[in-house]
Amino acid sequence: MTAILPTSSVLDGCAMPELTTITRGSSKPVIRERGQREVFCGLTGIVWLHRKMQDAFFLVVGSRTCAHLVQSAAGVMIFAEPRFATAILGERDLAGLADANEELDRCVTQLLERRPDVTTLFLVGSCPSEVIKLDLQRAAERLNQRFLPAVRILNYSGSGIETTFTQGEDACLRSLVPHLPAVETTTPSLLVVGTLADVVEDQMSRLFAAIGIGPVHFFPPRRARELPPIGPGTKLLLAQPFLSDTARALVARGATLLPALYPFGANGTIAWLRAAATAWGIADDVVDRVTAVPAERARAAVAHYRRRLEGKRMFFFPDSQLEIPLARFLHEECGMELLEVGTPYLDRLMMDAELERMPASVQLSEGQDVERQLDRCRAARPDLTVCGLGLANPLEAEGLRTKWSIELVFSPIHGFEQAGDLAELFARPLDRAERLRV
Ligand code: SF4
Repeated sequence: MTAILPTSSVLDGCAMPELTTITRGSSKPVIRERGQREVFCGLTGIVWLHRKMQDAFFLVVGSRTCAHLVQSAAGVMIFAEPRFATAILGERDLAGLADANEELDRCVTQLLERRPDVTTLFLVGSCPSEVIKLDLQRAAERLNQRFLPAVRILNYSGSGIETTFTQGEDACLRSLVPHLPAVETTTPSLLVVGTLADVVEDQMSRLFAAIGIGPVHFFPPRRARELPPIGPGTKLLLAQPFLSDTARALVARGATLLPALYPFGANGTIAWLRAAATAWGIADDVVDRVTAVPAERARAAVAHYRRRLEGKRMFFFPDSQLEIPLARFLHEECGMELLEVGTPYLDRLMMDAELERMPASVQLSEGQDVERQLDRCRAARPDLTVCGLGLANPLEAEGLRTKWSIELVFSPIHGFEQAGDLAELFARPLDRAERLRV
């Protein structure tokens, strides 16, 4: 087994088998499909997680394909000493000539000797059958005996059999939950859950402070070693809609989940802040006063792109689990018409508030049978289609305008100051099409 930083520039999503559902039902009619799907696997989350937790390292235990995926998606040069790598099973491992556990221990030891700045190491599982046979949880326990307290070793799966695209973050954060320090006090504290860019986190911190909400912690934190406390006074405000397992694990540790819209656009951000303010007994008019200026700035920025988006018809293929909150933003604040909004999973615990804001005319779909969904998309001829990279080029060739869903996860799109950028992400392909026509 060799730990390498792969170098391929080929972005490679793999075919994955049918999933079982975790759906809890919905009051709106939903197409549920369990056929072939075209989505990225959970390894992709390493791209934003390694940037957020600056003392964490992600060691994928996988194949060359996994290595190519992560390296290409992250786009980091080897000489930049990125905090991710792939331990690739070599021919000696596959032939049974080497003990894979010993090889893994050797890789981890080499890595930690070279990177003394790392305080948390995630062993990330993948789909190749040789990797599935390796018990990474036991490996983490074994390595912890050797490396704690200097380095904590954790494991989670980013395998395409078990996870889609954004579920990698859910699995990673879920693995950290048992290590959050417990507090017994019922004094309220706010825990914002889901990776936010540092600049967005700072903006949100200032807004919470101005409203009078605090103390506020963020999960994941900027340093994996500085995990936020949790206890019966902890109120959870989700920044990302794909953290079902993490939210449930935090609730099981005594925290309370605050139902809210997600902070996309002016409406979503105001509603998100109001949900926290209500839990602190602070009236809506205080939130309105604090947010009046940034919300106005957000609306003005969105208005610039609304001219391009208004009345345009939108189709979402399932990929990131951001689809429903983003569709709400595009409909309410950009005036777009929603045709179909697909999501890999529909979890009412995470999505109830958002579903109430969906227009009656929209067709929701959960899971995927890609050929059927392509047929529906072609029949509808939307003005803009949000989909994964694998579908975008064929649809463009058929004359449909597309937006890569991966960009929506890699770009800072939360909060007031990013609302204009969010609208622009959708306006850009339409602009480009317009310019090519003239
Ligand atoms: S984890 Fe599976 S789906 Fe993801 S890159 Fe590796 S082989 Fe492909």
